[in-house]
Amino acid sequence: MSLLKENYEIVLENIKKACEKSGRDPKEVTLIAVSKTKPVEMLNEVYEAGSRDFGENKVQEMCEKMEQLPSDIKWHMIGHLQTNKVKYIVGKCELIHSVDSLHLAKEIEKQAQKADVIVPILVEINIANEETKFGIDRSQAMELVKEIAKLPHVQIKGLMTIAPYVEDSEENRAYFHQIWQLSVDIKNENIHNVSMDILSMGMTGDYMVAIEEGSTMVRVGTGIFGERNYNIH
Ligand SMILES: *Cc1c(COP(=O)(O)O)cnc(C)c1O
Repeated sequence: MSLLKENYEIVLENIKKACEKSGRDPKEVTLIAVSKTKPVEMLNEVYEAGSRDFGENKVQEMCEKMEQLPSDIKWHMIGHLQTNKVKYIVGKCELIHSVDSLHLAKEIEKQAQKADVIVPILVEINIANEETKFGIDRSQAMELVKEIAKLPHVQIKGLMTIAPYVEDSEENRAYFHQIWQLSVDIKNENIHNVSMDILSMGMTGDYMVAIEEGSTMVRVGTGIFGERNYNIH
């Protein structure tokens, strides 16, 4: 068995364990193979192992890979998105995880209207308030959701967060719980055009804890593809 297939299956097995531990159905959790910086040959291997969801953080890289890989792949934009790049991915990717401003949402609306599509998105929350990270502050999330909800071609499906890098994943449990709680609060507002079905949280270091706290999408890169080397890219 190939190493990547083995890695992929170990992650699936861990997802199952985390679901069992928290009384959840593994079918509620989607594994996104985060393939940024990795060559298409490696993506193909993980595709062969069964993955149909891949995550990329750069528009150009995602578009290049789309052209070279099977068309039944669901592409997830998980990185910070510049407004001038929106037009290249609207209608092409499954979900944009990283919407953190009304400005960006309005550009998605504009391009979606042009292409005559509805674009599913997640609102990215900056949970740990680290200055280097993108995402909107938790205290401003409700207001942003309500504004984006007015855009007819943009459909909010849930929330996304990137937790801090920690040695012990337990340190992030409270953050994941806060995001889950926020999604419940937003759901309870019954805002037209907004659902909170998706919680995109958990990466290689903390996806099991994230699942225990309600995650429905985990974004795993290193755990499947191995370490990334940015120097040779
Ligand atoms: C790179 C990246 C991941 C995957 O990180 P790993 O620690 O390698 O699993 C997940 N989410 C986002 C937004 C990323 O940029």
